[in-house]
Amino acid sequence: MNDSKTQLQHDILTYILSTNGIVHEPELLDVYAQLKKKELNEANVLKLQTKLDRLIALINESLHSMDYKIEKYRQYTPMALRTISSASIGSTIANDSTNDGSSTRDAIDLKKSNLFYVYTNLKLTQSSKLATFYKPTELEFVKYVFKKLMEPNELSSIKDLNLSNDKSVSYKQYIDKIIRLDHNNEEDGTSSIGSGTYTSFNKGSTSLIVGFRNSDMNVDSLKLSDLENILTRLCENKWLTQYGDGSYSLYIRSLVELKDYIKCFDNDDGSSETERSEEREGTEGEGEELNGNICNICQKIVYLGGIECSNCNSFYLDIDCLKQFLNRCHSSDQSVICSYCKHEFNDVNDIIYIL
Ligand SMILES: [Zn+2]
Ligand SMILES: [Zn+2]
Repeated sequence: MNDSKTQLQHDILTYILSTNGIVHEPELLDVYAQLKKKELNEANVLKLQTKLDRLIALINESLHSMDYKIEKYRQYTPMALRTISSASIGSTIANDSTNDGSSTRDAIDLKKSNLFYVYTNLKLTQSSKLATFYKPTELEFVKYVFKKLMEPNELSSIKDLNLSNDKSVSYKQYIDKIIRLDHNNEEDGTSSIGSGTYTSFNKGSTSLIVGFRNSDMNVDSLKLSDLENILTRLCENKWLTQYGDGSYSLYIRSLVELKDYIKCFDNDDGSSETERSEEREGTEGEGEELNGNICNICQKIVYLGGIECSNCNSFYLDIDCLKQFLNRCHSSDQSVICSYCKHEFNDVNDIIYIL
């Protein structure tokens, strides 16, 4: 392998690590193009994507012996969805507070990507990874936060949705665009958020902090400022994200880890009983709750954006798979029905939005 290629691998890996191990595809593509001294534009974006993926595969070969891997994870974020629904590039720039100043039109358009590169350790369990970042007393609060953020909030009416809640509004509008069940909204032609029922997982900091203090997991030595500081660090390390309304939810790193956690129960991968019981212990309680909202197609946890069948409450699809599912139904001229209970999806009341 020549030196410049090795250097390129090193530079890309260093960049990924500098982002705390999680980077949005357009951002990494931009870095890659700069390193290659190429301009990123519509004409060469596919080629650069392929080349970047080849480079990542090479990096993974050398990481393999150390049990690390860079993997791609699909997750639409509210920011990407806002970019998709923006009428023009101009409004995208105006609305996009996280615009990194990149001046090319196409690079901005790429923000609608739903792909992330995630640097992950294949051997350590979620709890042992957390244990390297947090003191044992702090871990008590961290565990509490994870447990709470895995619990779905009560069902609410879309009509009661706070319109300033960017995240939920973005997911609702995008799901409607795909599945087109919200006939009321189409008929009256207003730009209202429409109707239906939704659930979500995010929780306010007060409910997390007060809830912890009142729970039997409370650690007296942790002051209010310590707890706030832990929440901030969890966001920095991309385990959690905080939305405009101040609420917290699990984020890419957690979702990647939880995906692996589910996988280890799905496939008998031959790992020893000891390893398994350690994993069970480390992520206590999550197994039960996770059995609920697993995507019917890709087996990913449906957490940020998706739907659930309101009739059987057993059929879940995340946003990407919802598209795939509808394409499949339409191309075979089948009606859109729940794969489990065969309930037909005709109306917004046939589904529950996960926002
Ligand atoms: Zn899926
Ligand atoms: Zn069903």
